[in-house]
Amino acid sequence: MVTSAPIASEEFVSYLENLFTISLKDIKVIITDFHAEMQKGLSGYESSLKMIPSFVDRPKGDEHGSFIALDLGGTNFRVLAVELDGKRNATVRAVSKFVIPKKEMRGTGVQLFDFIVGCIDSFLTENSIDRKKLYNLSFTFSFPVEQTTIAAGKLLIWTKGFTAKGVEGKDIIILLNEALSRRNISCIKVTALANDTVGTLVARSYTDPTCDLGVILGTGTNACYREKLSNIQKLKVADAKGYMIVNMEWGNFNQLRLTRYDNELDQASVNPGAMYLEKMVSGMYLGEITRLILIDLTKRDPIFLKDSDAAESFKKRNSLKAEHMSLIEGDTTTNLDEIDRFLRNNGISNSTPHDRTTLKRLCEVVSARAARLGAAAISAVITWMDPELKDVHTVGIDGSLFEKYPGFEAKMTDVFKKMYVEKAKKITLVNSKDGSGKGAAIIAAIAASSETNQP
Ligand code: ADP
Ligand code: MG
Repeated sequence: MVTSAPIASEEFVSYLENLFTISLKDIKVIITDFHAEMQKGLSGYESSLKMIPSFVDRPKGDEHGSFIALDLGGTNFRVLAVELDGKRNATVRAVSKFVIPKKEMRGTGVQLFDFIVGCIDSFLTENSIDRKKLYNLSFTFSFPVEQTTIAAGKLLIWTKGFTAKGVEGKDIIILLNEALSRRNISCIKVTALANDTVGTLVARSYTDPTCDLGVILGTGTNACYREKLSNIQKLKVADAKGYMIVNMEWGNFNQLRLTRYDNELDQASVNPGAMYLEKMVSGMYLGEITRLILIDLTKRDPIFLKDSDAAESFKKRNSLKAEHMSLIEGDTTTNLDEIDRFLRNNGISNSTPHDRTTLKRLCEVVSARAARLGAAAISAVITWMDPELKDVHTVGIDGSLFEKYPGFEAKMTDVFKKMYVEKAKKITLVNSKDGSGKGAAIIAAIAASSETNQP
């Protein structure tokens, strides 16, 4: 129903609820489509899922030593010093967090890598790290990289709003090493390149061997899982035994029903036509979908936010964020005072309780679809590994959306309960905070030990 005729908010919300529903039947279709795309990706055929081999398996738990890890997410850049005791304990000794400025995200590759190395330099100084020693460093780089060894890989395509020139098609480790040389930092040896999903899986499975799936729900969304080497046909390893973690790049899954709000968002993005699952699920986009709906409602309903200029307040793209939606959905006060405060901060001082309830419901519609799609994707990967759900599967999840959005996790587990009833107990979601950073250190340890073990 697309109409420009006046419509009451209640009616509009029901219409939206319908439009954004992900039914169990939809989920079953998504699972089948996911499996077909996974198969194609693993065989080396064209697929919306790239299914990138990571060249690491789960750790054994006895990896040890001190490592430096870099974690470039999409919003934040973290530098960590991590210690592994060889007994399944990973401790973050120091961590510094930096926000990537827009200028560096969208400038040149040299600017971006110089910024990264500048952060490493400050980290070494702030934590009085002895520059006469040599430290193994692992780089968690959360973008689609075609990995060729544990310490080499080319960026396939930028996502999450990054456009830094001269990086696509280049080896990330070479670019990092060049930037380290430009700044004369010689106490660092880059030993591993990892995706954040792989880091998350590795970190969780270091302490918990039932973890076989790593998921990101932050600025973007992605996942990796443990695959039989014999199933990764494109690797063409003769007589393949054992397992390898595969980075799915699931944010690009495209067999989804887009609404006109999704289409509008997609068309205005820096990467139209790509990353549909990410654009419907992850933190970078949820606010914008909600904003487009809100603007639409102000045009349709003469009562909603009537004496204010809501369309003006939220005129700017990306002016409504996932963090705001968290605050709105988290408001449990009788009069929705938090929402009132939020609206006042945005120049709307006369909202009615009805306006505030409606706004909350708009957020609920958008976040519920995100959580259900996330759960559908997890279900697809688990049933790929274990169609009968015979084993226990722990899913390590890193990302602020999962960690901080009220009710997000509950909405996901609700899907498992409805889909698998009793067997839903086999699936456990755990927040793997700092997982991608800790995992990077463990991967550096695996890389260092496989180097020493080489003949
Ligand atoms: P990165 O994706 O850079 O690794 P995070 O996992 O911290 O970093 O994710 C940051 C993203 O998570 C933000 O861009 C935002 O979309 C989302 N986010 C941050 N805080 C919240 C919050 N309180 N509620 C919902 N989403 C949030
Ligand atoms: Mg991250």
